Amino acid sequence: ATPTAVMVGTGVGASQGVLIKGGQALESAHKVNCIVFDKTGTLTVGKPVVVNTKLFKNMVLRDFYEFVAAAEVNSEHPLAKAIVEYAKKFREDEETPVWPEARDFVSVTGHGVKAIVRNKELIVGNRSLMLDHNIAIPADAEEMLAEIEEMAQTGILISIDQEVTGVLAISDPLKPGAREVISTLKSMKVRSIMVTGDNWGTANSIAREVGIETVMAETKPEQKAEKVKELQASGYVVAMVGDGINDSPALVAADVGMAIGAGTDIAIEAADIVLMKSNLEDVITAIDLSRKTFSRIR
Ligand code: ADP
Ligand code: MG
Repeated sequence: ATPTAVMVGTGVGASQGVLIKGGQALESAHKVNCIVFDKTGTLTVGKPVVVNTKLFKNMVLRDFYEFVAAAEVNSEHPLAKAIVEYAKKFREDEETPVWPEARDFVSVTGHGVKAIVRNKELIVGNRSLMLDHNIAIPADAEEMLAEIEEMAQTGILISIDQEVTGVLAISDPLKPGAREVISTLKSMKVRSIMVTGDNWGTANSIAREVGIETVMAETKPEQKAEKVKELQASGYVVAMVGDGINDSPALVAADVGMAIGAGTDIAIEAADIVLMKSNLEDVITAIDLSRKTFSRIR
């Protein structure tokens, strides 16, 4: 393609909300034959909401959520925000709920949070966070988790003084049109893969809903990047689509990194292409634009 064609291509992209950072990114996009998608905020809407709670101890929901919110209000995680929002529903009599003080707050990346609230040790997070603290997960909690994950929701365990006291279910539905995007990519001979820090059960259910066959769950940020490199080593030209801080290493490692416009600044910085409208369809817009630019004029 001539420099003019590349300029036209990037211009057309920009006018459609697909920000291409330079000619190299536009050129690489038409060679992509494998796309690695992050789950939360990329394939899903990314606005999780609490949809269910199950308590295993004699405790009122209002008190339970007061405990959990006291810890989660210190976390930036979207799941934490969902929990605090939900906790506020029990405090509608107050203008701005004041949560009890959380001492010794610790955020365990990819697992959950810990704090001392009202002199009790509170641990909120996934299975492995409980196991790391030698907290037994009772059979009824495991049963509830399995049901939650089967419904493509995320289950969070709450332990108070070393005992699992409740499980809450958080739902983050697929973006509209996500399934169509994956099937269109398939018809374009582009393979789709999903990587996520979420658990295997939820990950598999979401993958089934969206029509993705290859899944990697419970991954750390470096593992997302390693997966990209592994695919490259086996001959794929790889695009990564993500929105989070934890996607940044993979966005950099990919031949083409695509960030969701509504995502974190760090992801947008790390990417070669930014999907300003946060629409998954624009993954296809970008590839099409590149294919047109680089097959027309030679
Ligand atoms: P993702 O890649 O889906 O954005 P993360 O790596 O951020 O996921 O988190 C993985 C898992 O760790 C979450 O699905 C959740 O179970 C748990 N987790 C992380 N942060 C929190 C938190 N603040 N409160 C409760 N659970 C959390
Ligand atoms: Mg994400």
